[in-house]
Amino acid sequence: MLCCSLCNSRFSGEYRSGNLQRHKRTKHAEQRFLCPRAGCLRTFARKDARLKHERRKHPELDRPPAVSRR
Ligand SMILES: [Zn+2]
Ligand SMILES: [Zn+2]
Repeated sequence: MLCCSLCNSRFSGEYRSGNLQRHKRTKHAEQRFLCPRAGCLRTFARKDARLKHERRKHPELDRPPAVSRR
């Protein structure tokens, strides 16, 4: 069983590895994380990169520490 690290879709079966790769290419290739700050148009490939940016550039957003939590 393989799990997509970006959306937790699951893939099983003979072609799971190829299916996962194709899924990531098609579903997440254009996915970007946008800075939520109004007027800031920065986008990031990763959520943690965006969080780092938010903490550094927009301390007024008061982001909590990077703890992955659901
Ligand atoms: Zn996915
Ligand atoms: Zn920003």
